[in-house]
Amino acid sequence: MSSPPSFSTQLVAKRAPRPKDTELVFGRTFTDHMAIVDYEAERGWFDPRVVPYGPLSLDPAAAVLHYAQEMFDGLKAFRGVDGKVRFFRIDRHCQRLHDGADRLCIPPVPTELSRAAITAFVKADLDWVPSSPGTSLYIRPTVIASEPFLGVRPAKRYIFFVIASPVGAYHGEAFAPARILVEDKYVRAAVGGLGGVKAGANYIASLRAAEDAKARGFDQVLWTDAHEHRYLEEVGTMNMVARIGDEIVTPPLGGSILAGVTRDSAITLLREWGLTVNERPLGMEELLRAHRGGTLREMFGCGTAAVITPVGTLGWKGEDVVVNGGQPGEIARRLLEAITAIQYGREPDKHGWMTEV
Ligand SMILES: *Cc1c(COP(=O)(O)O)cnc(C)c1O
Repeated sequence: MSSPPSFSTQLVAKRAPRPKDTELVFGRTFTDHMAIVDYEAERGWFDPRVVPYGPLSLDPAAAVLHYAQEMFDGLKAFRGVDGKVRFFRIDRHCQRLHDGADRLCIPPVPTELSRAAITAFVKADLDWVPSSPGTSLYIRPTVIASEPFLGVRPAKRYIFFVIASPVGAYHGEAFAPARILVEDKYVRAAVGGLGGVKAGANYIASLRAAEDAKARGFDQVLWTDAHEHRYLEEVGTMNMVARIGDEIVTPPLGGSILAGVTRDSAITLLREWGLTVNERPLGMEELLRAHRGGTLREMFGCGTAAVITPVGTLGWKGEDVVVNGGQPGEIARRLLEAITAIQYGREPDKHGWMTEV
């Protein structure tokens, strides 16, 4: 392998005051610096640099502003109980950013480049990684099409940048189950569409449904398949897992579902614990039957932001389907504990998931 690209570094003259760990709001405050790499079709990726955090300069005709040629990823760095800062599964996140680019006709960011960008930048802002229990640094690598051109074709210029936000403990004391509306009108992603890629466009496709669900007293929606609104896909922006009897079920990655790193970590641990995990289609009829028969034991979503979010209630055709008495399930609790124990170094990292910055 060629040596990792080296980033020039321009540090801020004066560091910004940091919010208290107890006052951190997801995605509101950003660290002092950011990493940037430019791309031009004739040159490839060039000028890797760490610079003070600040606005980007974009031409109003930049392709991203018109046709949403954009993708991102989201990963975290944790300050372990030993005080050292480590990334959780950075290799997986860099690989996903690389692999998703083709669907959006974006030039893939080589994994060694995204990894070097994230590492160089977090090194400059290491003291921004909070240390209170449950806190972390949320890192957002992003690629945008910057070429000023209104013709519809893949852009010839891009900007890859990495920013980060210190985030608080998601669950606090409570591990509160969510109220989820089963979506039977809107579609987030269809097979053959963009659902398998972390594209900003998927998020816009989901906003109307999420807003309507909130107006009806729900926290998020449970996405169903685009053809029949019958098979369950994802919970909001999390992958979905249900426990029916002794089987743990999660929908297969069929192109409309994002391949979550948390999903993969959960499946790995559950199988190591000797539990049966099947990646198979799960229809609403089967779920309701299991609920009526008393075998729907628990449901939860998984993703980087919250790790695990239990589902307490499903809204379906005007009725509330209460899962596990509205309480977090045993597997949800056990997974949250196991994954966070690895992230904060309370338990040994047997899988090599953590990388010291
Ligand atoms: C990011 C994301 C997830 C979760 O992926 P993680 O890698 O676990 O954070 C799930 N679904 C969607 C739609 C996402 O965008």
